This record gives sequence, structure tokens and C-alpha cells, in this order.
Amino acid sequence: MDLGLTGRVALVTGAGRGIGAAIATALEAEGAAAVRLDISGTDDGPVRHCDVTSPDSARSAVAAVVREFGRVDVLVNNAGIVADAPLESIDVALWQRVFDVNVTGVLNMCQAVIPELKRRRWGRIVNAASFAAIVPSLGASAYAASKAAVVQLGRTLAGELGGWGITVNSYAPGMVPTEMNRFADLDDVAAAPRLDQVTLGRWGTAEEVAAAVCFLASEPAGYITGTLLDVSGGKFATQTPGAARRPPYGPS
Ligand code: NAD
Repeated sequence: MDLGLTGRVALVTGAGRGIGAAIATALEAEGAAAVRLDISGTDDGPVRHCDVTSPDSARSAVAAVVREFGRVDVLVNNAGIVADAPLESIDVALWQRVFDVNVTGVLNMCQAVIPELKRRRWGRIVNAASFAAIVPSLGASAYAASKAAVVQLGRTLAGELGGWGITVNSYAPGMVPTEMNRFADLDDVAAAPRLDQVTLGRWGTAEEVAAAVCFLASEPAGYITGTLLDVSGGKFATQTPGAARRPPYGPS
């Protein structure tokens, strides 16, 4: 299938590593010019500095891309952080920081990009939610609540931009080993109960998430908006996903 991304200009936030880096690479493989933005980036590096929590930083990153490429077509709001603390005692500053990056960061980038997308009456906004927006983990209240907010922000924005030919969708990765979660460091005993939640019985890869993002950013996805796409390998698709790998359902 031709995704129609050749010649499109895409911005990917949090693209310095992890899933964001894979998304940028996948968009390039589909013929788009992918501009990598990250708080860890530099003014002249292949990964450009942009702190999504700052409206000024978001605006100036978008303005620089429009000056250089003449357009923006796709925004992937991938930047995100997690915090691990019980709700009863989580520090409010930490709670706020998670919302600043995960929710207000999406808002800042959308506000910076929307005028460009409206000008062309075409656009794709694709937002990183999480499976935590569907079923939260203990100790990750700020993260789960922020990702649920991303989903509803996206649905609202989809409604507000529908008349402009701009689609807005979110996606929910399940468990993809990255520096955010260090799943790759777990031994088999620690990994087993986590993988037992997953119908397909394995970790996801950044490339699998990137493929879903490329589709949501594509021309053929033009009739999909306001959705949350689950990219979790079927996490809790049934109440006992691990049974899919044992008799009588599994291969052995
Ligand atoms: P990661 O920690 O490896 O990468 C996140 C990137 O975001 C980093 O490069 C970081 O520098 C950047 N970033 C952080 N704050 C920023 C800011 N203020 N401005 C700009 N960039 C900033 O994480 P990842 O695992 O690759 O996750 C990417 C996205 O996918 C996140 O939104 C995350 O919540 C979501 N997600 C990941 C998983 C998973 O299993 N890895 C699951 C569900 C959702």
C-alpha cells in the first residue's frame, strides 16, 4: 500500500531515542522528511532542541521547520515521561511535571502546528497515549491520568479540526522495552507475569509502534479520526491472555 507520505514534512517530538526515533526513521522510509525534536537535541544537530512544555520552544521549532521546508503536514506527539509514586504521597511538583510534558506538551505542539495544517486544509496529528490510559498500573497514577487526558484532548481536537481535513488520533503502545521502562533488563522470572498479560506473549518493538503511527499519518487513513489505536499485542484482550500459549489453545 502506498501511504502517500512522499514529500510530506513530519515533526516527531521526543525523537532523540526510543519509540520516537523509530517513528522518525519509519516516516523517512515512507518518503517523508522527518524532523526529530527532543529536549536533549541541539540547535544544529540531527535531533533539534525542543522542550514541548514551553509554548515558545514549540512555536520556534515549528517556525524553523516552516522556514526551512516550507510546510508541515504531520505532527507526532511522542514525547512523554513517567513517574513512579503512590497517589497518596506523590509530590505535586512531580504530578505537575508529568502533566506538563504529557498533556500540555501535546497542547503546545498542536497550537504551534495547527495554523500550518489549516493553511493546506490537510494534516495528521498523531498522539502517544498508552495502554495505561485503558488499564493503569499501580504507582503510575499521574502517567495513567495524563495519557487518558491525551486521548480526550485528541478526540476534542479531532472534532474541532474535522472541517479542515485534519485528522487527530492517539495510539496506545503496550510494553516496548526502552530506556523509559528498562524492560530489557528484567530477568525471565520478572518478565513472565508481565508477558502473561499479553495475548501475543512477547514485548512489542518500537518498529511495530512506528508502523501503526505511519499508517495513522498516511493518506489512506484519511477516514480515521478521534480514535485510540491499541498497539499492545492484545494486552488483556481476554481476562487470561497467557492461556493463548497453553493447551488447548496454544501450539503446545
Ligand atoms: P523514552 O523515555 O525512551 O523516550 C522519550 C523521549 O522523550 C526522550 O528522548 C526524552 O528526551 C523526550 N522528552 C522528554 N521530555 C521532553 C520534553 N519536555 N520535550 C521534548 N522531548 C522530551 O520513552 P519511549 O518508551 O520511547 O516512549 C515514547 C512515548 O511512548 C512516550 O510518550 C511514552 O509515554 C509512550 N509509551 C511508551 C510505552 C513503552 O512501552 N515504551 C508504552 C506506552 C506508551
